[in-house]
Amino acid sequence: MPSHQPTAGMLAVKPDYVKQPSPMAKPEEPNRNQAYEPKKQHITESPITKTNWYKHVNWLNVTLIVGIPLYGLVQALYTPLRLNTAIWAIAYYFATGLGITAGYHRLWAHTSYSATLPLRAFLAFVGGGAVEGSIRWWARDHRAHHRYTDTEKDPYSVRKGLVYSHFGWMLMKQNPKRIGRTDISDLNEDPVVVWQHKHYLKVVLFAGLIFPTLVAGIGWGDYFGGFIYAGILRIFFVQQATFCVNSLAHWLGDQPFDDRNSPRDHVITALVTLGEGYHNFHHEFPSDYRNAIEWWQYDPTKWSIWVSKKLGLAFDLKQFRSNEIEKGRIQQQQKKIDQKRAKLDWGVPLDQLPVLEWDDYVEQAKNGRGLIAVAGVVHDVSDFINDHPGGKAMIKSGIGKDATAMFNGGVYMHSNAAHNLLSTMRVGVIRGGCEVEIWKKAQQEAKGEVFQDASGQRIMRAGLQPTKVLENVASAGAA
Ligand SMILES: [Zn+2]
Ligand SMILES: [Zn+2]
Repeated sequence: MPSHQPTAGMLAVKPDYVKQPSPMAKPEEPNRNQAYEPKKQHITESPITKTNWYKHVNWLNVTLIVGIPLYGLVQALYTPLRLNTAIWAIAYYFATGLGITAGYHRLWAHTSYSATLPLRAFLAFVGGGAVEGSIRWWARDHRAHHRYTDTEKDPYSVRKGLVYSHFGWMLMKQNPKRIGRTDISDLNEDPVVVWQHKHYLKVVLFAGLIFPTLVAGIGWGDYFGGFIYAGILRIFFVQQATFCVNSLAHWLGDQPFDDRNSPRDHVITALVTLGEGYHNFHHEFPSDYRNAIEWWQYDPTKWSIWVSKKLGLAFDLKQFRSNEIEKGRIQQQQKKIDQKRAKLDWGVPLDQLPVLEWDDYVEQAKNGRGLIAVAGVVHDVSDFINDHPGGKAMIKSGIGKDATAMFNGGVYMHSNAAHNLLSTMRVGVIRGGCEVEIWKKAQQEAKGEVFQDASGQRIMRAGLQPTKVLENVASAGAA
């Protein structure tokens, strides 16, 4: 699945995608939101004003994401935190976080591996306990995020701001027609997904609050502590951590595989998100069960999937060949090198230099201009005479002459760096005489037969400057 916006050509390759049914549930489907009426104007289609702003706010989400955590924070001031409860809250934090990362994200949204029914049921339960919506809803939006990254159809595009991508998109109502279409027919066939969606409220209440409260209460008599710390505050931390995948992972770090879109790799994001921080890799290779491909990188989600496989609960773990991964990495490196090279001064291209007659060249040199011809290219070295590492006398001896042989070993075999430097002093090429090679090279360049990078910039490889003439190599010392 490419991370950039698909083009018409790409759609033509996958016609089944074009013909797919609307992602909106049909009226007869049990999953359909009864309140939603596609023909009526949606509130997001009218601008926010002083009188209607509250209609734009998604009050249910504001309560779940901001209101309840605030209540929990206030209660925490008066509720002693017991060690058992703290350990349980942290453990349940990891379990519910993995419900999102290993379950909602890598299993259901990307099908990067397959899971047995017991594992799917477990992930649907703990994922529900993270209070981030049903698997079906979450995975549909996430597939749209991958398919339409950074565009208007991306449900949480970072182009709309860091806060928007973090949770602004949930706190304010969204127009369902705006979100890009995605195919979730496979999810509708998973009974665990359908069951969880249908009974979502019960799942959330039980897995999110009742279960962690009961464990602490029955386990060591700390019902209220369990409710506040392992319930409410744990939900808050899991939510904020996983929201960072949409905000921080599109904002902080490097882009080793592709820099055309916003996803980035950073260890801080990985630490916060149970290993989802290698997001540039993930957007390039979304169906890989790994986010971190190096063993030393932090990706507990990957480790948990691997352990599940060892326990016989997960199978068909998908992994891109390292050959494909390295191709992406090298192309991005090449792009960066091309950009750096384009900023350097490589001298005037040969085919853009004025053409001089030999006699003209000799005449101008006689009149005091510091001109030196090497391989048919004329260079103005006037400002360089004093800086010449081989001394003033040496360089002056070439003025007004054909210095091809002298430069290429007759007197001294100049280095590649010297050829590079010489190219920045080019002022003309000589018609006829001297080296006819230079004409061939100039014509090759004009015809685009020289090396070019992806953006059409000329590339001068080491050792290939036109002033480098191999036939003239003599016995003088090498550079
Ligand atoms: Zn992303
Ligand atoms: Zn993803």
